[in-house]
Order: sequence, then C-alpha cells, then structure tokens
Amino acid sequence: MDQSQTTTAPRPGKVAYKRIATEEAFAPAEMLQIWRKILEGADPDPGFVSLIGFYMSSKSARARHIIECLTDLGEQRLHHMDEAGIDRQVIALTSPGVQVMDGESAVAFAKVANDELAEAVRKHPTRFTGMVAVAPQDPEAAAKEIERGVQKLGLNGVIINSHTHGEYLSDPKFWAIFEAAEANDTPIYLHPNTPPRNMIQPFLECGLDGAIFGFGVETGLHALRIITAGVFDHFPKLRIILGHMGEALPFWAYRLDYMHRATVKSERYACMKPIQKKPSDYLRENFYITNSGVADEAAIKYTQGMMGADRVMYAMDYPYQHAIEEVGILDNMSSTPEDKKRFYQTNAEVAFGLK
Ligand code: CA
Repeated sequence: MDQSQTTTAPRPGKVAYKRIATEEAFAPAEMLQIWRKILEGADPDPGFVSLIGFYMSSKSARARHIIECLTDLGEQRLHHMDEAGIDRQVIALTSPGVQVMDGESAVAFAKVANDELAEAVRKHPTRFTGMVAVAPQDPEAAAKEIERGVQKLGLNGVIINSHTHGEYLSDPKFWAIFEAAEANDTPIYLHPNTPPRNMIQPFLECGLDGAIFGFGVETGLHALRIITAGVFDHFPKLRIILGHMGEALPFWAYRLDYMHRATVKSERYACMKPIQKKPSDYLRENFYITNSGVADEAAIKYTQGMMGADRVMYAMDYPYQHAIEEVGILDNMSSTPEDKKRFYQTNAEVAFGLK
C-alpha cells in the first residue's frame, strides 16, 4: 500500500463500541517458501501466478508492505490496529493458503499454520481471534482439523479460500467439512481466490482477475453453487460468512429467486434440483456478510435492509486494504447507535462465538 495513507489519515476517535475487524489476513513465512516452490514448479496455476507471483516479486511499496504485514502476528500488527482504532482482528490464513498445495502438503501445513495462529491468539487473547485453515483436498482430514482447531486450539470459524484446484464445495464429496463446521457450531468464512484455470483467461487478459472483480465473481459463484446444491437443506444450522458485501449476491437476490424458480420448474438442468427455500431465504438465514473492502454506506444500508442489521458486520481486509480513513467513514454512517454497535461489534461476537 501507499505508506502515506497510514500517516496522513486522522486516527479514528473513541466510540461507544468495540471495532472488530473480521477478514484480516496472515501468512506464515514458511508458507511463502512453499508458495515460492510452487511458483517455480511446472505449470503453476495462472491465478496464483498473477496474484502471489506479483506480491512475492514486486518491489512496489504496496506489495512490500503487504508481505511484511502478512507475516507479522505481533507488535507491528498491534501497532497498525491501534493506529486504526481496531480493538480486535479475526485473522485467517491468507488466500489461497494451503488450497494451492498438493493434498499431503496441504493437510500437514494447515496444522502448522493453525498452531502458529493459535499461539498468537494465546499471547494476545483480547486482540486476536483466529480461524482454522483446512485442506479441502482431504475432506476427512479437514473435518478432523476443524474439530482440533475449535476444541483444542480455541480457534473460532473456518477459512475456506474458495475453489481448490478448480473444485467447489457444492460437490458432496466435500460435505464432511460442512458437517464438521455444523457439529462444532462454528462458521465458515468463504473467502475469495483468483478464478481457476478454466475460468480466468477473460479476466486475466484485461487485469480484472484479482480483488478488483474476479475474486467477487468467483466467490459469489461458489456461494451460489453451495446454495443451489441444497447444502443448507442437509445442514440447516450451517453458517457461512461472505466478504465484500456478500460478493454482490444480496444485490442479485430478486433475480436469483425468480430465475431459480423458473429454471427448476422448466427442468432445464438435471443438476438444478428443487431446494426447500428460495436462494435469498438461505442468504438471510444461513449467511453473514462483511463489508470488507467496501466503505460504502449505501451498499451497507441496502445489504442491512435485505439481510437484516444483525447479519452485516465490519471488516477492514488488512493488510490488502489497510485504509485507516475508512474506519472514520464507517463510524460516521447515519445509523442508530444500536445498529452501529451491531455492525462493528455484536454481530461478530455472535457469528464467531466470541466471549
Ligand atoms: Ca481478504
């Protein structure tokens, strides 16, 4: 990022709520070494090359700041939180995490990353909350790691960095992950990844594959695949969190409902079977939305109206969008004090089960 942003933005003032930032990223230094080997290996994933290849090789101030912040779970991160008025970060292994690795490495490294994050949470229990990283490549191992992460390590929530080698959790072979999240009463944060190999080309050729647009398209698709596959009819208590204003799905709700109903009725696709509720019902009942990367009052208000004010919560997206001035913008939204506290604090406490 541009360093001048942190030094010139006024420090946000004291407020009558805690600011909990819910989509904040870290990367163990050892993971960057594994990633470097993947980048140097045969035929790496083009989205991975575009995203991580850039951050790990660019000399730009933004890329260097991001890599430096990602690998710190100590004083620098706490300093940046203090500077931005953030009381607590909910931290997850940055995208694509272990999901770009081969299955065996992914299962092993998820444990390493979770141990490292849990240690930081133990050191700073009032400032950090951590999510469990898992390897969808091995759904049974992922289910066990969810249990270990929640029960033994004291982590809250599961991070899934969208597709895994082009595969989606709508495939029932992955549903042990949903079963474990539901059984451990912990939410899944479905976080973006770059579009997979068979989707990325039209994005890549115009520079729109990353956070600017490709992330949202791919992750919105993933969430919608989970809804239309009937996952929530099987796991009615499952909670999924989406960032970036729900990857735009709340804005699509009317058309999704209309076209889903019409498509099912016409029996156009064998793969699109009836589900118990409308797509938007699942959005309202099984999802939480964060505003990560979107400090836009109108978008937040629309989503609160569509989802309910108890379903929309704050995220900064540190360190990728380390923008202190956005905290002040959101502090000044024209909401009731109760709704502002829900947005910044209590919805996160409920969603992640924070004490
Ligand atoms: Ca993020």
